[in-house]
Amino acid sequence: MTSDRKVRVRFAPSPTGPLHIGGVRTALYNYLFARQHGGDLIFRIEDTDSTRFVPGAEDYIIESFRWLGIKFDEGVSFGGNHGPYRQSERRDIYRKYVDQLLSEGKAYIAFDTPEELDQKRQETENFQYDASTRTQMRNSLTLSPEEVEQLIASGHQYVVRFKIEPGREVQVDDIIRGMVTINSSVLDDKVLFKSADGLPTYHLANIVDDHLMEVTHVIRGEEWLPSAPLHVLLYEAFGWTDTMPRFAHLPLLLKPVGNGKLSKRDGDKFGFPVFPLEWHDPKTGEVSQGYREQGYLPEAVVNFLALLGWNPGGEQEVLSLDQLVQLFDLSQCSKAGARFDYIKAQWFNHQYLLQRPAMEWTPEFDKILRAQGIESTPEREAQVVDMMKLKVIEYTDKEGNKKKRNISFVSDLWPLCRFFFLPPESYDTTDKFVRKNWKAETAAEMQQLADLLATTTDFSAEGLKATIEPWTEQTGIRPWNAWRVALVGTGQGPNMYELAAFLGKEETLSRMAHAIQTISVN
Ligand code: GLU
Repeated sequence: MTSDRKVRVRFAPSPTGPLHIGGVRTALYNYLFARQHGGDLIFRIEDTDSTRFVPGAEDYIIESFRWLGIKFDEGVSFGGNHGPYRQSERRDIYRKYVDQLLSEGKAYIAFDTPEELDQKRQETENFQYDASTRTQMRNSLTLSPEEVEQLIASGHQYVVRFKIEPGREVQVDDIIRGMVTINSSVLDDKVLFKSADGLPTYHLANIVDDHLMEVTHVIRGEEWLPSAPLHVLLYEAFGWTDTMPRFAHLPLLLKPVGNGKLSKRDGDKFGFPVFPLEWHDPKTGEVSQGYREQGYLPEAVVNFLALLGWNPGGEQEVLSLDQLVQLFDLSQCSKAGARFDYIKAQWFNHQYLLQRPAMEWTPEFDKILRAQGIESTPEREAQVVDMMKLKVIEYTDKEGNKKKRNISFVSDLWPLCRFFFLPPESYDTTDKFVRKNWKAETAAEMQQLADLLATTTDFSAEGLKATIEPWTEQTGIRPWNAWRVALVGTGQGPNMYELAAFLGKEETLSRMAHAIQTISVN
């Protein structure tokens, strides 16, 4: 039905707060699908519910995608000729469609006040406004046309409800879930329009806009599956069945452990963000962490999210956006929820960080050093990065377990790298490495090495190697571990020649002298 049309998909958030990471995945899948079909990706803002509007949310969402490198072809802030793309600016457009349904008897006006509806809900268990109850309510089906007119004229607020015929099998053609059939009797007569603010509800605006914007595929989170039958019925009611979009309801993102869907609390519990960027709640002032501020690279976040709910098969997991576009297959997405494995996100970040030349790590690294009162140069910082980027760090997770992992963030470097910039404050003789490698005779041996180095003119790593190797052969002294104690204070760090070359002659000799003076073992 839709195969000869240009693929057009949309991401249509409501600006009710920061974009959740699940929303990012939805937008990404829309993006991949659009790109691989040479189609268009539309960015639409669904802001017809003014009570839930949060200032700053729209800009936040736009900035998130800019950071992630997910580009839209048209929409709010992107332009295009199906606009305006903000639903609050389209109110005149919707009115016509509401009137069409009313005049064709496919919708009706209802005057029931919130109190009357509450009353009804209390009286009747599982009350639903539908074919079985609408005849008992205050609406244009039960009132005379004169009464209706009078009520409107006298300023009574009303809503327009869609008149759903019961007992129909409604078919939703879902690329991931197959043909989903729902009996229309379970649906209620959805409110499409409210006179109070003159705005349509999400239900009407979402569907009318999909039509007017020539959307061919609705790709969105599983939580929207219950709205799909209404989509189908409204398209039918308007006579648009020829251009009915196909649906793809994406699997839920699940908690890292246990059952249920991923929540902000899981993020707080395990220490990972559930938002792309840091978010400052304008009402409460609460700050929520973001992937960007935590030191994630946008490519890593995109790659990680792309594989939550779909995988290309095969071994390769590190895939660029272009490769993802090539490989992505909407029909192969899983129906079952995808576990949010945040450790895997760190792993991806490690992979992408390593792909970046050391010079690109330095702006971030420099900030961290400055916060410690250290001034260095990008060149020296890049040298440190290259010496240390493949090291493993030890950390304690939120549950207090000691763990190890690869360097996944630039900020992981600091605890591993302080000795490049600061001499050991003291020598801890309870440290296993120090005890094992600094014996009674070590101070004298270190002095011999220091004397040798004092005369060395070539202090490059190669020069040091060429000086020290013949000396160790002659003397039989194997100085490396003790030398490490002197320069680092413990068993960490890179190759000793590289370290000494980095520190330079003066600093190297000063640290050695200090160690010789202060470390006393018995
Ligand atoms: N405004 C809805 C949201 O916030 C859009 C749902 C849809 O994609 O149809 O996600």
